[in-house]
Amino acid sequence: MGFVYEAKREKLEEKLTLGEGRKKTPVAILGATGSVGQRMVDILARHPWFEIVQLAASEKSVGKTYEESVTWLLPTPIPEVVRRMIVTPPEKQSSARIAFSALDASVAGPIETEWANQGVTVVTNTKSHRMDPDVPLLIPEVNPDHLALARTQNFPNGGMIIANPNCVTIGLCIGLKPLFDAFSVDKVHVTTYQATSGAGFPGVPSLSILDNVIPYISGEEEKVEKEPLKIFSTLQNGLLSLPSLTISASCVRVPVIEGHLESISFSTSKQVSLEEVKNAFLNFKPAVSFMGLPLAPKRPIHFLERIDAPQPRLHKMAENGMSVCVGGLRPCPLFSYKFFLLSHNTIRGAAGGSVLIGEYLLKQGKSQFF
Ligand code: NAP
Repeated sequence: MGFVYEAKREKLEEKLTLGEGRKKTPVAILGATGSVGQRMVDILARHPWFEIVQLAASEKSVGKTYEESVTWLLPTPIPEVVRRMIVTPPEKQSSARIAFSALDASVAGPIETEWANQGVTVVTNTKSHRMDPDVPLLIPEVNPDHLALARTQNFPNGGMIIANPNCVTIGLCIGLKPLFDAFSVDKVHVTTYQATSGAGFPGVPSLSILDNVIPYISGEEEKVEKEPLKIFSTLQNGLLSLPSLTISASCVRVPVIEGHLESISFSTSKQVSLEEVKNAFLNFKPAVSFMGLPLAPKRPIHFLERIDAPQPRLHKMAENGMSVCVGGLRPCPLFSYKFFLLSHNTIRGAAGGSVLIGEYLLKQGKSQFF
């Protein structure tokens, strides 16, 4: 076993070495034409460390140029470097060393496993492998130590799968992290106001969502109640022990294009003042913010004093969409305190979050990966 791990580690170091002045790391985007995939294209096409070498999507897109196959939704033009790239099926593998997956969840699982079997590092946005016991469900600002779980995976040639959590879970866990560490949060109630882009493209029909809110998102509440428990688990000897934390979630779709708002109430096992909670938000400075990663926000939590903040239209782009915004902190008659939190679902909650994981892997690759 030891030998396997040693060989795997060497391979990883070779694969993930950053090295100033070296060539960029070649990456593939699986599901490159979707709502999340095009955000990835936008971020990776101008990334200083990564180079897009493959774009993959479904049969209807395969063989066309990226420009022909995508319904581009972003306000910036399609990046020139990918415009005429030919879209491949996701089963076809290239020289990519990292595969960022934004595939439809119905097909993602086996395809991602196959990429890892070929020795590639897969960073996935889909739910397929998130709850696998040996797959790190990673938020670099929250549980970077969980990366070591990847050591227990048995893919040949250093292949591995790392999962980016659900888009609501990411914002929720970043907001709770300083409170969880300082005050032992034990109960959380969260109600979400989720943007339509969270349902992919073309997503929720306009006649269902305009002039309306929909109090149901398939499978979402279960993810928001379970994923944070894995993320806040303690990792010891390759095993996760769950925290003493209970979460109740109610998830609602609202007619906003991007930016998930969350109303969060929490209780702590010890008495804490409002000022202490506010200071915990203000003083949150995780190590990853000081590692020189291109996408890592300097302040992952922006604490807003304005009484009616945060709002999707005004605040979703905090630090290029990579920070969450917190506001409306006040006492709660049922729990200890409550607040609102906003995070950009396709950037922080998906494409940006997974590219940040890629950056973190690359930076850690040489000396500290395991
Ligand atoms: P989407 O807009 O529906 O895009 C899905 C992508 O998968 C497209 O590129 C599509 O290609 C491809 N695809 C669909 N069926 C396929 C097949 N049979 N074989 C190969 N490729 C196929 O979805 P999305 O919103 O970007 O979400 C992508 C993944 O990220 C999902 O698993 C979702 O749950 C997760 N996620 C989404 C968000 C968000 O805010 N949207 C946030 C976090 C996580 P074609 O264009 O060729 O059909």
